[in-house]
Amino acid sequence: MILILGGGISGLSLAYFLQKKSIKYTLLEASNRFGGVIETEFCQNSILENGANSLMIDEKLEELISELHLTPLLANQVSSNRYILKNKKLQILPAHPIKLLLGNFFSFRTKILFIKELFAKPQPNLDDISISDFFEQKFGKEVLEYAVAPFISGIYSGNPDHILLAKTFPKLMEAQKEYGSLLKYFAKNASKAKRRKTITFAKGMIEFTEALASKINHKHLNVNANGIYKKGNNWLVKTDTGSEFEGDKIVFCTPSYVIQPLVSDFFPSFAHQLSQIKYSQVSILHLVYHKNAILMPLNGFGSLHPRNEKSFLTGVIWNSSVFGGRTKENETLFTCFLGGEQSFAPSDYSDDELINKSIAELEKLYQITEKPVISHLKHWKSAIPQYTKETIGLETLILDVEKQNIFILSNIMNGVSIPDRITQSQLLADKIA
Ligand SMILES: Cc1cc2nc3c(=O)[nH]c(=O)nc-3n(C[C@H](O)[C@H](O)[C@H](O)COP(=O)(O)OP(=O)(O)OC[C@H]3O[C@@H](n4cnc5c(N)ncnc54)[C@H](O)[C@@H]3O)c2cc1C
Repeated sequence: MILILGGGISGLSLAYFLQKKSIKYTLLEASNRFGGVIETEFCQNSILENGANSLMIDEKLEELISELHLTPLLANQVSSNRYILKNKKLQILPAHPIKLLLGNFFSFRTKILFIKELFAKPQPNLDDISISDFFEQKFGKEVLEYAVAPFISGIYSGNPDHILLAKTFPKLMEAQKEYGSLLKYFAKNASKAKRRKTITFAKGMIEFTEALASKINHKHLNVNANGIYKKGNNWLVKTDTGSEFEGDKIVFCTPSYVIQPLVSDFFPSFAHQLSQIKYSQVSILHLVYHKNAILMPLNGFGSLHPRNEKSFLTGVIWNSSVFGGRTKENETLFTCFLGGEQSFAPSDYSDDELINKSIAELEKLYQITEKPVISHLKHWKSAIPQYTKETIGLETLILDVEKQNIFILSNIMNGVSIPDRITQSQLLADKIA
């Protein structure tokens, strides 16, 4: 019997894959719903994503979605445009290297660095290089600040000065080892690389986790695991409700700060390292406006705001442009990101301050002439784990812990995206089957 702790996408997908293999499991979730940080709320015909907004699908995920009899909702074509705030103006970041070279987004000096990079030699031993150091050395400060750092903020709400390249982009690490030049690698692989589609679902991301949860036979809500104990060769999980669960293996699908106190008696070094892992703090603000109150055309996925632009918001998703049916026909929904490791801590402000400052900034940026008809704020005190130097050596400790039949499927390593989590669940299901 495998005891799975945590019913976010990691725990749900693991339970699903184990069930397909007819392996006995029980899934325990502390809260009153499944999905973890995938959380959709409905408000006056608007679909508000408090956590993940969308996911990128590959063939495997497509297979899972079709097994669940779900119909993915594809992102509109226009959402391939990504806007960056540069010199206080929103500008499209060209997606193609040729357009980057010929267009006006980057300075002449940066373009020279692009050409120089084509002759870069592979560098060994970059295991502890930060994303900032890696990209600045290759392409200079402008690329770091206006292309790399905003995306690190958008995906990890992280700071590229601290996040490690090897942990976050292992493929780029391998590419530079093989080709030296990243541009050469991209050029050689451009034809092979299929652009993955961005999707959500008609009723939002929660449709996915609810469909997955509905297929899982052995699951419990409102069961908070508060202790693990040895019982002969087995493990015993004790819970807040007083109920106990016995199994030969435990899989933790919970954040590191939940795992740490539960394992500290058995694995003190591992627990110590878990205690060092940092999480970003972000708040998500949804704003709905009458469509005709927004004068700027919204033909893109959204805007990212580099740290040196000193913007209050770190980025904004233009939900109504990305997917259909997110709000009423005559309205426009924005999802604004506040905080993260390159910005301020949202908890330093009151909710009213966060909302008012965001509205004022949006009005300027997008030429908005009215106040929003809906505003909805969600705080994540510990949103996304940061793959910083504090995570070096984690894999070795985890392999050691596995010898005692304790497995870690948390997003503290091997990727935070939903597809990454599902891939890791499949791999673990194959491993422990
Ligand atoms: C704001 C935000 C936006 C994001 N946007 C995207 C996006 O657009 N696309 C994308 O691919 N990814 C996105 N991500 C990342 C992605 O959503 C997460 O990395 C992923 O969903 C994490 O899933 P998980 O199951 O590993 O963990 P979680 O979702 O954190 O689930 C852990 C679960 O464990 C439960 N739990 C905690 N303690 C206990 C206990 N003691 N006993 C039992 N259960 C317990 C919790 O209640 C929770 O349900 C985003 C993340 C955030 C925070």
